[in-house]
Amino acid sequence: MIIFTHHTGEPHAILGAQVAATFFHRKLSIPSIVVGVQRSFSREQLFRFIDDYYAGKRKPERIAAFSHLCGRKDLIGLAQELKQKGFITVLGGPQAKQDYRGEPDIDSYPHRFVGLRSMVDIAFQGPVDGLKSKDLGTGAGLLEYPWTRDIFLEVDWSNLYTFSDTLKKVEIQLGQVLSAIGCQHARKLQTVTLPPPVNLSERGVPELEVRSEGCVFCDVSRDKGYHGSVGSDRLMAQVAGLPEVDGKKIPFELIDEYPIPSLGKLIEDAEHHAIKLSQVNLVCRVDHINDFASDLPNILSLGQSQAIKIMFSSIGFESFSDRLLHYFSKGITVEDIVKCVETLRSLKSRYGRTLLYRRDEGANHGFIRPTPWDDGETMQETDRNIFLLRLYEDILPEHSTPLIIHHASYLGDWIRQIESATGITFSREGTWIEWWNPSPP
Ligand code: SF4
Repeated sequence: MIIFTHHTGEPHAILGAQVAATFFHRKLSIPSIVVGVQRSFSREQLFRFIDDYYAGKRKPERIAAFSHLCGRKDLIGLAQELKQKGFITVLGGPQAKQDYRGEPDIDSYPHRFVGLRSMVDIAFQGPVDGLKSKDLGTGAGLLEYPWTRDIFLEVDWSNLYTFSDTLKKVEIQLGQVLSAIGCQHARKLQTVTLPPPVNLSERGVPELEVRSEGCVFCDVSRDKGYHGSVGSDRLMAQVAGLPEVDGKKIPFELIDEYPIPSLGKLIEDAEHHAIKLSQVNLVCRVDHINDFASDLPNILSLGQSQAIKIMFSSIGFESFSDRLLHYFSKGITVEDIVKCVETLRSLKSRYGRTLLYRRDEGANHGFIRPTPWDDGETMQETDRNIFLLRLYEDILPEHSTPLIIHHASYLGDWIRQIESATGITFSREGTWIEWWNPSPP
């Protein structure tokens, strides 16, 4: 089986799809690989490769799976064509259920995303280990499995390929290990009152209340919620399974928005098991860094003593305007960001080779702009804070990311509320809603 997924072409792992391929191979005896399709690819060459790969196979062996579509219409089109060619098509990964079902009230709002039912035979929500061989031979429709702490987490790190105009094996240089299932911030139920997008402020669009668990734009929070940590033994088992270069584990991303309490133990456990680490990349929230700032010197000293680099690789600052941070339900303020940046810079002066957090060291921190609420005041506040904090020196990514509204995020609810309150419609592009592109009335 091939699991198709979005891929940038960089030599990084795609944990969810690679775990799924490993599960199909080891537990269901279905040899499987992951093919990361780059944004620019030759459709003709891809279909030639698919024909070769599945040569001699008939239904039910002609199964093609999809994961992490990343809103790409070309991957949706690929699923549609393979279904038409007689494949059984399977969809897993983030938002599989919501993407399969599509948006509500399609009859009254035909411009909305209709979902993928017509091109997907089986969509499964939750971990892959719920799937049985018999499910794959049928058009079972939507299957849902609960997240538990003992989910299947084995990975064959050699099962990943990319495709642009030919199939290329990926020698993974950045792995991933799962520490927490979902995000703890997603346990926080919040209600935020959102003003209309600035380009509609003259059109009588009302302020609307939006309820969220976690950040309003986040699809992880809505899709997965939070189901706790997998535990230190299972974490270490994953680390032990990572590939090695020159006797050390390759750098890996620790998937956990609140990782600091488990990081010291991870380093100690690795030493205890004679596993040599090279670099741990953290995806970490601002408030968590602030809460555990006093623990970081000890952890960094431990890392330093074992020549392990610790990189804060993706901190979701998202904005430098208090009003926008509030609209995002981010749970932090600009004051928190100031404290966090000061902590990192001060630790960098003590642990220069051990602590990495800078853009020129490979970190890529979140900065969302444009947003629907950018006005003179937020732009001024943001630019002033960027200037005063000298964020362009080390923190800001090369390009900001426009606010993306997935149809199943909490902001998707907000857009649909605007549509029903006013009759204004917003165009859809695949699974995304183009908030910048309203149509009258
Ligand atoms: S954006 Fe990050 S911090 Fe916010 S809910 Fe999603 S995963 Fe959690």
